This record gives sequence, C-alpha cells and structure tokens, in this order.
Amino acid sequence: MAADRMLQFVGHDQSYPDKRSPEERARDFREIAERYAAPDAREQSARCSQCGVPYCSVHCPLHNHIPEWLRLTAEGRLREAYELSNATSTMPEICGRICPQDRLCEGNCVIESAGHGAVTIGSVEKYITDTAWAEGWVEPVRAGPATGQSVGIVGAGPAGLTAAEYLRVVGHEVHVYDRHDRAGGLLTYGIPGFKLEKEVVMRRIERLAESGIHFHAGFEVGRDATLDALRQRHDAVLIATGVYKAREIAVPGKDAEGVVAALDYLIASNRKGFGDAVPAFDDGRLNAEGKHVVVIGGGDTAMDCVRTAIRQGAKSVKCLYRRDRENMPGSQREVANAEEEGVEFVWLAAPERFTADKAVRQVAAQGMRLGAPDASGRRNPEPDPGRSFDLPADMVIKALGFDPEELPHLFGAPDLSVTRWGTLRVDHQTMMTSLPGVFAAGDIVRGASLVVWGIRDGRDVSEQMAKWLKVKAKTEKKAA
Ligand code: FAD
Ligand code: SF4
Ligand code: SF4
Repeated sequence: MAADRMLQFVGHDQSYPDKRSPEERARDFREIAERYAAPDAREQSARCSQCGVPYCSVHCPLHNHIPEWLRLTAEGRLREAYELSNATSTMPEICGRICPQDRLCEGNCVIESAGHGAVTIGSVEKYITDTAWAEGWVEPVRAGPATGQSVGIVGAGPAGLTAAEYLRVVGHEVHVYDRHDRAGGLLTYGIPGFKLEKEVVMRRIERLAESGIHFHAGFEVGRDATLDALRQRHDAVLIATGVYKAREIAVPGKDAEGVVAALDYLIASNRKGFGDAVPAFDDGRLNAEGKHVVVIGGGDTAMDCVRTAIRQGAKSVKCLYRRDRENMPGSQREVANAEEEGVEFVWLAAPERFTADKAVRQVAAQGMRLGAPDASGRRNPEPDPGRSFDLPADMVIKALGFDPEELPHLFGAPDLSVTRWGTLRVDHQTMMTSLPGVFAAGDIVRGASLVVWGIRDGRDVSEQMAKWLKVKAKTEKKAA
C-alpha cells in the first residue's frame, strides 16, 4: 500500500518551494522561499524510493528517520510524521531551513545519484514542523520528576539549548547563561532573517523557558563569574560557547574606518530586525546603504554579509575570494541566491591593501591561482603575477572565519585543557573536559561547524551528563 504511493520520482519532477523574486527579496529580511502547499509536500515526499539502506539518513548528523517521515507525509499522516521527526531533533524546522542539504541528506539521496534530482528532504522537514506549530501539535517540554541536581550551561546556541531541553526532560534543574541579551547564539545574532526568520527561533526559546529552564541573559562567564564559581553552584557544567575570535587579515589599511568585522556587521543588522537601538548602524558605520561594499571571504558568513548588504541598499556588492567557485567552503545554493540578488563574485583574488583617506576608498587586489594540493588534497592559492586590480570600496567586511577564544584564560581556569587549535579537549566518549563534571559541546569542541552538528552534540552530551550525574548522586548517597 505504502509502496504504491511512493517511488514517484519518475512521474513527478523535483520541485522546491517557489522562491520570491530577487527584486522582492532585496527589499526585506524575510525568508526567500515560500512554503509548500499540502499537495506539493505530499507529492514531493512520494518521490522517495524508501531505500533499504537510506543514505540520506546515514549522512544526516542526527540520523533522522527520513524515509519514514517522508512516507507518512505522502500518506497525509502529518502528525505522526511530526512526532517521528521530533524524536531525533530539537529543531527540525530550523535544520530544514538552514542545513546545507546539498552536502548532507539530499546530496546523498540515491535519486540524486540516479539523475532524477534528490527528494527535497529539507523543505519537507520544514513543512512538517511548521505545520505542527500552526496546528498546536508542538507540545511543551515536560520536565521529568525532579532529580534534585542542577546543571549550568554556558552558551545558549543550538548545542546549549539542545542539551538544556534533554536534561530538563530527565528532571534536572537547568540554568543557561549567555552573554547576549537574547538566547539562540548564532541562530539569533549570526544567521540573517532571510535564511531563518527570528520568530522561528524565539518560539523555540519560549517553549524552553516555559518548561522551567532558567535563562540568565547578559551573563558572561569570565566577567560575571569564573568557571569555578559555576562549578560550585551546579552539579555539572556544560561549556557550549561557540567560536568567536575573528580571523584577521594582515594587510595595510586593515584598521581604516569602514573596514569592519563580519559578526559586528551581522549582529547590528539582526538587532535592527528586532527593533533594537543600534547607534553604530544608525550613524552609518555598520550600514551598507548607498555604499560600494567589498566582502572578503568565501564561507557562510561571507554569503550572509553580501546578501545583507544588498538588502540594506548598497550601491554595489562584491565578494572577493582567493579560491574559485568549486573550491569555496560556502554552499553553492547560497552563491546562486546571492548572484540572483545582484552580488558579483570576484574569484581567485585576495586583498593586498585597503586604501583610505578619511575612510576606506579602495581595495587593491592581487589575482590568485590554484597551486599544488596540500596534505588534505585541497589546492592552495598562490599569487598570480601580473594580475592585480583595484575595486572601489566605502565599506570592507572581513569574513575570514572564526577561531576559539582563549577560554582557560577568560574563564580563570588554567587547568581547562585545549587542543593546539584552541578548541576544548574532551574525552570523545564521555564528552567531559579535563575538569571533572565539566563537559563541552558544539563549535567550541569541533571548531566552526554547522547548526545540525551543534544539535547532535547537544543530544549526545546530555546523555553523557545525565549518566555522570546519576553516578554522582549514587556516590553522594552512599557517602552520606
Ligand atoms: P553558538 O551558536 O555560537 O552559541 C554560543 C553561545 O555562547 C552564544 O550565544 C554566545 O553568546 C555564548 N557565549 C560565548 N561565550 C560566552 C561566555 N563567556 N559567557 C556566556 N555566554 C557565552 N550553520 C548552518 O548549519 N547553516 C547555516 O546557514 C549557517 N550560517 C552561519 C552564518 C554565520 C554568519 C555564522 C557565523 C555561522 C553559521 N553557521 C551555519 C554555523 C552555526 O551557526 C554554528 O555552527 C552553530 O551556531 C554552533 O552552535 P554552538 O551552540 O556551538 O555555538
Ligand atoms: Fe537533512 Fe539537516 Fe534535516 Fe538531517 S537535519 S535531514 S541533514 S536537513
Ligand atoms: Fe528516499 Fe532518497 Fe532517502 Fe532513498 S536516499 S530513502 S530515495 S530520501
């Protein structure tokens, strides 16, 4: 019966939800894709061939039950589809929006390999849980019987929030500390609204707060408390602080007025979206309106900056990247979106100097070419003699990636062990750091990664912490 409904990939072409026109998109910060109408979601789900070994699921960091919820969607059993999807993820509708599906589930769909175009897994995932929210099927987080133990979580990004939810479900008292005034980490202040509307994040956070999780906003560990103070306050601590030290660019003029850091720029824009007062935006320093903008970098952050600048009404937006299109870290889908919106990519080019009078006026760029592959097989860029050029620029945005901050120093915890990259060193089975009862998860362990990996880590670490806390409770009981 189910098989009759499925395997429709020959009869039905792949179809993503329609995108709004680039002209319309450029005028606001709303998401660019429409949502599926119910018959389209059913039809697209029915394209799945229900593989015995579903590679989509194998390559999803959460190992979501993809074929099963696609089948339920095709059969119109949406509430069951939602419950199954919710069983492995704390934020399926967020992953459906912002996972790089072309590299994960959809990129490994057998129908894609067979040349029919992958099942549109992410869009269906978003459809299922958006419907669940609209229908009131998303239930409150129900706290289990109180264990009498408390957990402190530093960082309210996807890793911290996921761990908070699962630890609350098993009955722990949970406190989440974040230096920002709103929870969500990069979901709230990094990723722009045109990829992820903020109400989608805020409703998740409200649901957690309603379950009794205590959020301590504007609380910076290192400034407002040491790590040791948190260890005294809680039975266990989780560090999920992400990575925030922006990589610098060592060229003359890097400190000129008008040369700004990507995250400062994106945070200002996201804050404006919330209606906050942002003086550095209002006085023009972090506003691209009417400017020639050059963004340096080729990752997700650079893509978000160029597309934000378009929406702010920049005169021109160029993205300068030292490798070519095939070798960039950012998603190809995002490059295509940016190009549609009017961004110009200048491949194989690196800045040599920022020329400024009172403020930056020009980027002098050096052409690059790809040299021999390094140990990882990636071809290294090297200067291409004889190719250099200038680009007009009233604003330069540096988006070269992020490294971890120096946590042992910041947290006043010299015994907190780090790797040579500055990420926290954890035991990969227990996810515990070098300090007993202090765990770590998300980007601060992996280095800059993806939301879906943050959720996976949050899920795994909550299991490890719950186990450790049980043993701790037993030991304390015996000793009493
Ligand atoms: P974060 O989300 O960084 O959260 C860490 C939290 O810890 C923050 O709220 C921070 O304020 C808080 N914190 C830090 N230090 C302290 C302290 N000392 N005291 C208290 N609180 C502290 N991934 C995708 O999958 N898809 C995308 O489209 C995508 N786009 C991105 C766009 C941008 C601009 C950036 C920068 C990243 C993007 N990513 C994307 C990556 C993704 O956002 C991260 O991998 C993910 O958010 C990491 O989750 P986390 O919970 O480890 O950390
Ligand atoms: Fe695909 Fe991400 Fe959803 Fe997994 S979580 S199914 S990788 S969109
Ligand atoms: Fe369906 Fe594609 Fe997953 Fe196979 S790999 S189960 S066809 S979504």
